[in-house]
Amino acid sequence: PPPPGPRPIRRLQESVINRIAAGEIIHRPASALKELIENSLDAGATSIKVTVKEGGMKLLQIQDNGCGIRKEDLPILAERFTTSKLATFADLSRLTTYGFRGEALASMSYVSNLTVVTKTKADSCAWKACYADGALTPVKAGATSDPKPCAGNDGTTITVENLFYNTPTRLSALRGSSEEYTRIIDVVTRYAIHNPLVSFTCKKTGSPSPDVSTPSSSTTEQAIRLLYGQTLAKELLHVTVIPASKGKGKASAAHQDASDDEDEDVDDSWSAEAHFTNANYQAKKMTFLLFINHRLVEASRIKRALEAVYNGVLAKGAAPFVYLSLQIDPRSVDVNVHPTKKEVHFLDEDAIIERIADVVQDALIGQSQSRVFEYQT
Ligand code: ADP
Ligand code: MG
Repeated sequence: PPPPGPRPIRRLQESVINRIAAGEIIHRPASALKELIENSLDAGATSIKVTVKEGGMKLLQIQDNGCGIRKEDLPILAERFTTSKLATFADLSRLTTYGFRGEALASMSYVSNLTVVTKTKADSCAWKACYADGALTPVKAGATSDPKPCAGNDGTTITVENLFYNTPTRLSALRGSSEEYTRIIDVVTRYAIHNPLVSFTCKKTGSPSPDVSTPSSSTTEQAIRLLYGQTLAKELLHVTVIPASKGKGKASAAHQDASDDEDEDVDDSWSAEAHFTNANYQAKKMTFLLFINHRLVEASRIKRALEAVYNGVLAKGAAPFVYLSLQIDPRSVDVNVHPTKKEVHFLDEDAIIERIADVVQDALIGQSQSRVFEYQT
């Protein structure tokens, strides 16, 4: 046959574009849950209850006691790029919320059956709305698409059912329900540690007791003890890290008036809190919880720097637990790298990593010296 000529270029259908985009944001039940938890936290919830069926593939439900959604906003709730959190591009550099793209709920509506029940304080009843392909859809066949009044508490309950029912390749890429459930538990656990003032529960439908359950108004230490156990918690160290003062070393030694210098040198461009196990604790695999400006992210460079520190302290094959919460001037972090916002880049990465590794190392070494000292007395 003759070689084919150029084929006509066609505009993709909106629904095809949106389903492709959805696949980039919602990889698996745990990534849907991450978005939903962030929305609940953005809504000021102090209680977040997660219910899961078949690893979240059949059902993923999250109930919060946050501010709720106004009834008049329900028609565009699941449309792409509708958000209450961002109005101008400049807002991006001073974000204090997790969300800003307005893509999460839209994505879920393209690849699952999405139901929202919500009530604001001002509403006298709750409203129930179902969504498909970015728009309201009837709760049941024959009914209208309009939100229906129903009973409900203040706050929002979002139910994601039959995730990826219309994207079979994505569905078949998922692991079994028990592995997906493990990932869900992991996400809930991490957010529970980072938000000790918020109560989290996570359970399977029909199960009498939750697999994760934390009280509200707890502390980070208490949350770690509860979720990772006393064996780990009793070996925890805690440091607050701030930038090394600029005047340190030769320059400041030459100055006589040290107190004046300090004021000028205060550098509050970033700070970090770390809770990490000492040399007495040895796990098989490193547990690393990293939050940058309260976002759960991954940064292999920070992880490797910490691994290197522990290599000098732990026996071969032993691994630590590290929870690190880093706060950087929002203007020096670019959160707009990827729709999932998992990958975060920031200025002065090398200097910040080095400083944190140094402080952690000092704490670990100081601790091992005091241990020796204890044995001697
Ligand atoms: P984003 O979080 O980027 O704004 P989402 O698609 O996750 O986008 O959510 C769209 C909007 O829906 C949010 O801006 C918020 O106004 C509202 N919303 C979503 N979940 C909740 C919730 N649990 N409580 C209150 N409002 C919510
Ligand atoms: Mg969101």
